[in-house]
Amino acid sequence: MEKIKMTTPLVEMDGDEMTRILWKIIKDELLFPFIDLKTEYYDLGLAHRNETDDQVTFDSAEATKKYGVAVKCATITPNAARVKEYDLKEMWKSPNGTIRAILDGTVFRAPIVVKGIEPCVRNWKKPITIARHAYGDVYKASEMKIPAAGKCELVYTALDGSEVRELIHNFTGAGVIQGQHNLCESIESFARSCFNFALDTRQDLWFATKDTISKKYDHTFKDIFQEIYDAEYDAKFQEAGIEYFYTLIDDAVARVMKAEGGFIWACKNYDGDVMSDMVSSAFGSLAMMTSVLVSPEGYYEYEAAHGTEQRHYYKNLKGEETSTNSVATIFAWTGALRKRGELDENQALKEFADKLEKACTSTIESGHMTRDLALITTIEDPVVLNSEDFIKAIRKRLEESL
Ligand code: NAP
Ligand code: MG
Repeated sequence: MEKIKMTTPLVEMDGDEMTRILWKIIKDELLFPFIDLKTEYYDLGLAHRNETDDQVTFDSAEATKKYGVAVKCATITPNAARVKEYDLKEMWKSPNGTIRAILDGTVFRAPIVVKGIEPCVRNWKKPITIARHAYGDVYKASEMKIPAAGKCELVYTALDGSEVRELIHNFTGAGVIQGQHNLCESIESFARSCFNFALDTRQDLWFATKDTISKKYDHTFKDIFQEIYDAEYDAKFQEAGIEYFYTLIDDAVARVMKAEGGFIWACKNYDGDVMSDMVSSAFGSLAMMTSVLVSPEGYYEYEAAHGTEQRHYYKNLKGEETSTNSVATIFAWTGALRKRGELDENQALKEFADKLEKACTSTIESGHMTRDLALITTIEDPVVLNSEDFIKAIRKRLEESL
């Protein structure tokens, strides 16, 4: 078979620990034999981030702006223990945070649905994609403990010195207060990323806040989404045969439980934090969750939702066998290759991405899987494969389909 040609490179961001090991096996077994793989390589492994004073992370994000599509391996976000372990010059920031800030993107997380790994919610048949606004609200709040009686106010001081005040509460005893904020610009970016992603994946978009109670704060979110939708997306959505749907957050939660899936659920920061953990655990496994960062300009960075699997890595270092699930990392590659194929009108590349995904799901559906899935599958007598043999089993099915 002739290898599939690529015209534009993908931005490749290598990472850490067990996922770095899987990364190489995935390329050797599932990509190089079939594709003339073109990538611009950035090593985001912690040692190299440290050597470059984290410049490599910034460079990889800039490259994503240049080429439009990136694929990223999971990376360590350093804490005190990691600073010691890797003898770091500093406690470098989370690469995902850095890249997100540069691309101003929204993260969309979607489960990979396979027969045999059944969602806890019976009627969920298709994936539910969660889009979480990643700026502000309770995550950038100022808080105070109020020790005793007294008055608390919100005060806005304009540049000309004029003030607007709003009473929070006249305390008669001890209590607590919190000041939250958000930025119209950030909400607008969030809205555009969601609308673009809905068009891109041809799925309905749901958005919900508590605007009946929060008549200025949450209502601003609702209004910004509606204004941008009406001005820029209404016609495009109609043409694509999809819908934008706004409702109250409690109504959304109730509807999600009764729905069959196949839509995007845009959430404010806190709702997204909570709901993404609920949706991902109800769908079965963090190892079967994909993640893509979409910028309002239409740049895409694909990755797995899970981390570097430190525990598996240390087993591997000791020479012990691991059974680590590589599906979400493989889907990061297929997502990026498919998007590259779309942008470059490369039909062969798009078809390859579809076939590789199918090879992953059919391998699992045939009863061959890693330990994490064997523990939760409804398939009887699953065959548990080690990390490498699982990828080789996928390769076999992929070869049969090409
Ligand atoms: P993790 O790597 O996702 O692993 C948590 C646990 O989930 C694992 O110990 C494993 O359970 C299970 N698991 C996750 N992915 C799996 C897979 N593909 N196959 C099988 N089991 C899987 O999260 P963590 O241990 O909290 O974090 C480890 C490192 O990853 C940290 O340094 C963190 O900073 C980093 N991290 C990076 C990203 C990212 O780059 N996007 C995201 C999250 C965390 P068992 O051990 O029980 O098998
Ligand atoms: Mg959380």
